[in-house]
Amino acid sequence: MIKRKKEVNYRKATRKDGGRCLFCVHRLRVEIRGCNGEYLYHNYRCNVIGLENSRRYSISKDFVCDEFKQAETVGQ
Ligand code: SF4
Repeated sequence: MIKRKKEVNYRKATRKDGGRCLFCVHRLRVEIRGCNGEYLYHNYRCNVIGLENSRRYSISKDFVCDEFKQAETVGQ
């Protein structure tokens, strides 16, 4: 796990957490690009953890961290 995820205590969400990445304002849909800059697909990153393309920055909608903040609208 990358250092930033450890710093914010990124973990599998439980009912006790009262939230998860799916409902967090920091979760963003981003374009994932290949080595030549070509579009590959969309995925989700977090602007607290980092928006880099690397899979190490990917977040799961069923995880949460200490920086969770409820969004007013829910993403996909
Ligand atoms: S701030 Fe935490 S809870 Fe919110 S999207 Fe990022 S990792 Fe998930």
